[in-house]
Amino acid sequence: MESINVRLGDLTGASRWSNDQGIDQHQPRFDLAPSGLLDSSFDVHVRTAGQDSSPLSSVKSFEELGLHPDLLQGIYAMGFSKPSKIQERALPMLLANPPKNMIGQSQSGTGKTAAFSLNILNRVDSSLRVPQAIVLVPSRELARQIADVLQTMAKFTKINIGMAVKGGLHRGRRLDEHVIVGTPGSVQDAIRRGLLPTQQIKVFVLDEADNMLDQDGLGDQSIRIKGSLKVEPQIVLFSATFPDNVRKFAPRFAPDANEISLRREELSVDTIKQFYMDCQNEEHKYEVLCNLYDILTVSQSIIFCRRRETADEIARRMTEQGHAVLSLHGMMSPEERDEVMDHFRRGESKVLVTTNVLSRGIDIMQISVVINYDMPLDHYNNPEPETYLHRVGRTGRFGRTGASINFVHDRESWEHMNAIEEHFQKRIERVPTDNWEQVERILKTIL
Ligand code: ADP
Ligand code: MG
Repeated sequence: MESINVRLGDLTGASRWSNDQGIDQHQPRFDLAPSGLLDSSFDVHVRTAGQDSSPLSSVKSFEELGLHPDLLQGIYAMGFSKPSKIQERALPMLLANPPKNMIGQSQSGTGKTAAFSLNILNRVDSSLRVPQAIVLVPSRELARQIADVLQTMAKFTKINIGMAVKGGLHRGRRLDEHVIVGTPGSVQDAIRRGLLPTQQIKVFVLDEADNMLDQDGLGDQSIRIKGSLKVEPQIVLFSATFPDNVRKFAPRFAPDANEISLRREELSVDTIKQFYMDCQNEEHKYEVLCNLYDILTVSQSIIFCRRRETADEIARRMTEQGHAVLSLHGMMSPEERDEVMDHFRRGESKVLVTTNVLSRGIDIMQISVVINYDMPLDHYNNPEPETYLHRVGRTGRFGRTGASINFVHDRESWEHMNAIEEHFQKRIERVPTDNWEQVERILKTIL
């Protein structure tokens, strides 16, 4: 097991960053690679580690995997009839014995959760009432969602799922569920206080792994948590994005891993149409937003802002104008956040205005539009392609269609968008801000 001093690439200056600027910063700073260096191959790369690893194989049905029957029942109850591509490829490698580490990449909304969850549930011994797997995720909302998926999947088993999130460590109660899903701070806290026994942890999953390994706080915590595990577990890293510096570091965190990777230009989901709207200035952005919502009759949408204050302000103003809008960000209490999220999931409000705190992992089928009110930037004001991809990936889940609309309003935001377009080699098309009939036509053809 490596020491906790391991560092990611060059992130010098990160300590200058302070989070009291009202910005939810959940993304590391990753340099944009120079453009024009894209490899033209469109293959999905699967690399198996070691000589004794099972030959590369993929399954076409869940039955072939040799899962426990009660687990299979859970999958069918969820309405899954056959594995998705990532599940097809990852599950045979994940489930093989002796267990091998895995670094897995696939586009947003393709079923990574079920891939790592099935492996966990198949490995847990429900007769031992002690934690046997930990799943680390970057936000409480994602922790709740994944705990929910695990719970549903485990419905016909005797496996219990617990959570370690802020405000959720019930006054010193020992976590004795078989699987613990949590955020790094709370998991670390629980381990330190002796509330989360780690002797029997045999699977350790980092979902949104590139985010979980970044140096902006979460990385150190993930490394420390791994260091406090008593036995060497199977380490599983999943994400849609693995920027170069994380990809270089990941094998040190998950040595000798089987790898499934994608190329940058394969990362954009084809069913998500990407647009931009040319606004004149900040205030015009708000006007355009309102006009847009006059014609958007879509089921649900998310608006991403840079600052928490902007999110609140937009929610307040739109609510005044009669829209059912909520905001969610890191300055709210855990209870408030849960309430807003539950409300939105039930479809009781159609618009959620938020920050990067919700950029990753959230899976709500009804979201058909994502608006980047502010382009995603790191704390050096550089565009952040990974965050962009994750934000946009809140729509177009599991083959559904969706649209993302970027607001640009000055030279800087224009350049940021161009850099992102270049990065993924995926065109972002203009829609006018002065011809709403045309906008309506364009959006109607997609949604
Ligand atoms: P990712 O983590 O890759 O972004 P998720 O794991 O959140 O994606 O899955 C996206 C959606 O696809 C979820 O709503 C999930 O229920 C659904 N899904 C996953 N696997 C299957 C499957 N094999 N068949 C049908 N739906 C699936
Ligand atoms: Mg996910």
